[in-house]
Amino acid sequence: MADIESGERFDYVIVGAGSAGCVLAARLSEDPDVTVALLEAGGHNDKLLVNMPAGASQIFNNKNESNWAFETVPQSELGGRRLFQPRGRGWGGSSSINAMMYIRGHARDYDQWRQMGLTGWGYADVLPYFKKSQHNDSGGDAWNGEGGPLHVTRSPAGYPLQKVFVQAAAQAGFPVTRDFNGYQQEGAGIYSATIKDGKRCSTANAFLRPLVGVRPNLTVISNAHAGRLIIERKTAVGVEYAAGPGKSVKTVYAKREVILSAGAFQSPQLLLLSGIGPADELRKLGIPVEMDAPEVGRNLQDHIDCGVLYGCTKPITLYTLLKGHRQAMVGIEYMLRGTGHGRTIHLHSGAFLKTRGELDRPDVQLHFVNALMRDHGRVKAEADGFTIHTCPLRPESRGTVQLASRDPFAAPLIDPRYFTEANDMRCMRDSIRQIRDIVAQDAFKPYRGDEIAPGAQNTTDRELDTWIRATAETLYHPVGTVRMGVDDKAPVDVDLRVRGIDSLRVIDASVMPTLIGGNTNAPTIMIAEKLADSMRGRPPLPPQDAPIAEDARVAV
Ligand SMILES: Cc1cc2nc3c(=O)[nH]c(=O)nc-3n(C[C@H](O)[C@H](O)[C@H](O)COP(=O)(O)OP(=O)(O)OC[C@H]3O[C@@H](n4cnc5c(N)ncnc54)[C@H](O)[C@@H]3O)c2cc1C
Repeated sequence: MADIESGERFDYVIVGAGSAGCVLAARLSEDPDVTVALLEAGGHNDKLLVNMPAGASQIFNNKNESNWAFETVPQSELGGRRLFQPRGRGWGGSSSINAMMYIRGHARDYDQWRQMGLTGWGYADVLPYFKKSQHNDSGGDAWNGEGGPLHVTRSPAGYPLQKVFVQAAAQAGFPVTRDFNGYQQEGAGIYSATIKDGKRCSTANAFLRPLVGVRPNLTVISNAHAGRLIIERKTAVGVEYAAGPGKSVKTVYAKREVILSAGAFQSPQLLLLSGIGPADELRKLGIPVEMDAPEVGRNLQDHIDCGVLYGCTKPITLYTLLKGHRQAMVGIEYMLRGTGHGRTIHLHSGAFLKTRGELDRPDVQLHFVNALMRDHGRVKAEADGFTIHTCPLRPESRGTVQLASRDPFAAPLIDPRYFTEANDMRCMRDSIRQIRDIVAQDAFKPYRGDEIAPGAQNTTDRELDTWIRATAETLYHPVGTVRMGVDDKAPVDVDLRVRGIDSLRVIDASVMPTLIGGNTNAPTIMIAEKLADSMRGRPPLPPQDAPIAEDARVAV
């Protein structure tokens, strides 16, 4: 963690050492003739609760030095509630506090990007980059990579209920799938996770940490909060940041390019603070306009989630397994021997389902949790039970990220406008009914307790909507706020260059034009892998056409 002189110059300056930033820093610095500075607001994140997979729930649901813990503005369709919005801080960014699910989305999500004119972003184009970063513990195949830094481990279906969930889904007539990222996304199955030898495989642990002190051309500047880009004659030349205990303002300069990888809330925030955004909005705050970019901070999309709660009639859920002193013992066993419940995130099975038969891909994702989980796990479970989370995968609602003030330390105004499009509510409601159907199957019979929430008495659309509005929370996948597009209004082009400002790119989850159908860590890593090649002047990896199921009703 370097403390550099103010005004130092590097070829590339990357802001944000998160999922994308760590990958970019590692790949760009493979060229020994190139110097890279990676600026990160937080610290190194090398600590037990980050590294131990089971520690995730204790680090993502509260404000701490690894979590910015933002909240949204009051949500009109959710009774005016402000929703919690965790975001990772420090090395690895959100990949250091996330739930480690390794999911890429559906192949057709990327083909849709290509159909939007985004040449080079179809499934066949991006698949080689997913594989490049991956080391799949179960081996490589047409869809999975081997030998990459990001270790992907198939979850142990160790808890009985995880398997029961998959069996029950099959009994309810849904397909079963072996690999959500392989031939067939649709169906119920066992998740894979970014875990290596029982330790979180964040992008910090996979890509960055092994290089620190090894590559002299890579400089990581931690505890450095970027406040503004330095722009001269429509060219990004550097970054102003606050560092150290006294928060003195320093500068770092880029000979080639500045890259923003500060995530879907803070990359647009930094553009706005630097005068790149909707001109009228900037002028209201007295920020000189460098570039009128009306869609910076627009097009926010996020997965909104509900958890259907059931009691369990047998003492086999985390409530019993981690009762009393047992939870502390998990940490102690993990620290001493690296074994036990600490090695897993407890989210082992789930499903991708269609709420309407005519769809060409699943439109909801289910996560099965072997515990009663309310409000991001902040409400302590009071009995044995299980939770089946669901979220509409391609919400139609669109929101915004705006500045609260000119102060770079002030949190941005986050307004996802959840459920402002009626189909999102329809989709959530239909999915809750599918979950009820799954839990009603014979496989659950020996374990099924009462439906705790929404509660079996709530059956009409109206009753379900009321419950959804009262309990829905984010599934942590904001994207789209600096969308890539071929039209003039899109803030970045297909090479993720900011329109109208030279030597500036945004490379992170912000650039996804539409939310992919799944968790967003692997897609963000893929985006950084692909851009790193392009920035190094390498030809793109040859496209690969791995087959995908046409008729996902046929179980494989
Ligand atoms: C609680 C939680 C659970 C999740 N679970 C999963 C999951 O199981 N599977 C999955 O695939 N995805 C999951 N996600 C989503 C996934 O982790 C993110 O989509 C992905 O990490 C986003 O990567 P990014 O590079 O865009 O941003 P981030 O990884 O968030 O990185 C942004 C970085 O920029 C830094 N930064 C921000 N502003 C500044 C500034 N002004 N100056 C300097 N540095 C700055 C931040 O501190 C951070 O390190 C989860 C996310 C969260 C928060």
